[in-house]
Amino acid sequence: MPAGVVIAGAGQAGFQVAFSLRSRGYDGPITLIGNEPHIPYQRPPLSKGFLAGKQEIRHLHLRPAAYYAAQAIDFLAGEEVTRIDRPSRQVELGSSRQLNYDTLILALGARVRTLSLPGAELDGVCYLRSLDDAADLRQRLQQANEIVVIGGGFIGLELAAVARLAGKRVSVVEVQPRLMPRVVSPVISEYYAKLHRDRGSEIRLHSVPSKIIGAHGRAAGVLLNDGTHIPADLIVAGIGVLPNIGLAEGAGLETANGIVVNEYLATTDPCIYAIGDCAAHPSLFTETLIRIESVQNAVDQAACVAAAICGETRPYTDVPWFWTDQFDVKLQMAGLSSGYDQVVARGDPGSNKFSVFYFREDRLIAVDSVNRPADHIASRKILGSGSHLRPDEAADEGIDLKSFAPAG
Ligand SMILES: Cc1cc2nc3c(=O)[nH]c(=O)nc-3n(C[C@H](O)[C@H](O)[C@H](O)COP(=O)(O)OP(=O)(O)OC[C@H]3O[C@@H](n4cnc5c(N)ncnc54)[C@H](O)[C@@H]3O)c2cc1C
Repeated sequence: MPAGVVIAGAGQAGFQVAFSLRSRGYDGPITLIGNEPHIPYQRPPLSKGFLAGKQEIRHLHLRPAAYYAAQAIDFLAGEEVTRIDRPSRQVELGSSRQLNYDTLILALGARVRTLSLPGAELDGVCYLRSLDDAADLRQRLQQANEIVVIGGGFIGLELAAVARLAGKRVSVVEVQPRLMPRVVSPVISEYYAKLHRDRGSEIRLHSVPSKIIGAHGRAAGVLLNDGTHIPADLIVAGIGVLPNIGLAEGAGLETANGIVVNEYLATTDPCIYAIGDCAAHPSLFTETLIRIESVQNAVDQAACVAAAICGETRPYTDVPWFWTDQFDVKLQMAGLSSGYDQVVARGDPGSNKFSVFYFREDRLIAVDSVNRPADHIASRKILGSGSHLRPDEAADEGIDLKSFAPAG
């Protein structure tokens, strides 16, 4: 009897690899182990529709509970994988149970980076990563009036938009001089700062929080290092995540900012793969190993590993893409824009529909599209095919992007 595939982590990537294996006809044992008490669910709605009270838990599930038994996927909820014994190809669980594997897939995701400020431990200082975090935050949001969001990245801004739409007073505190600075160009940052300000939020850039002020044992405000005090009855920090690499480190696998994998997503042990938010992988779109935190990356890496297990080994080369919804604006990003040396816009930010094209040495490397889904779809195809689009062509609305994108 083969030991089959053991998947550690039952998030987006872990679920998808089990799903893809069965869809491809893999008929060996599959064990999916997750340390959360829920069946696998999607995280994007946690800072969008679910937080806003427009979606319920059942809408988030990737498949209904009955799916797992029907597909002979042994799903273990609320179980932590605590150790990997590579020589005997076994994992140990928190319940002391041991499981053999032929192939082990680490789909362990990431955990939130926490504030290291005086007062950060006070009640009323929250983070958002899991369904339990979101359910707690949703309740707190209903009761709060003044919300301070620390961190002007995607999750902080989505949350700020939900809070503002619920009529709350919202301040966003960002250390950098612009919003979402790691991933978008100044033109997009400026558009989003204006969007949030126009809807009534206070956007404080270049602002460094130095302390959480407490009153009656709970958080009551944020003190900035220029002496400004922002009152708050709810403080949410969205200041990035740290990949879950401890299990891999303990097993002697190579780690950096993530579990290091090759172009086939195998770790330094060929029987062990790592995928999704926890994996640091080579990419056609960067010269260094990269860790990408997106649904696309989790799903496509899972599909790539499932194919390899079924005998169709191919390198992971998919075009990275991502989206964020804030108010009624959808930003869709294709490619990776870091290291660009030229930016051109297509359309006018004032019209709330425009795209920004990023080039390095005249080669297109990424496209951000605001409320222009057709540009996004065409851009993914152009980036994936390597077809050559010049900056002047990208900026010219008279030129149809689809003519540069291969059909299909
Ligand atoms: C609030 C929020 C909004 C987001 N919005 C978007 C969006 O709009 N668009 C987008 O593309 N992406 C978005 N993302 C990112 C996206 O959800 C992640 O990139 C994706 O979930 C990564 O999947 P994963 O399986 O690698 O990790 P996860 O989904 O985090 O799953 C990993 C799972 O493994 C579990 N685990 C960890 N260690 C162990 C262990 N030792 N044993 C057992 N289980 C373990 C974790 O608890 C977790 O359940 C969002 C994320 C969040 C938190």
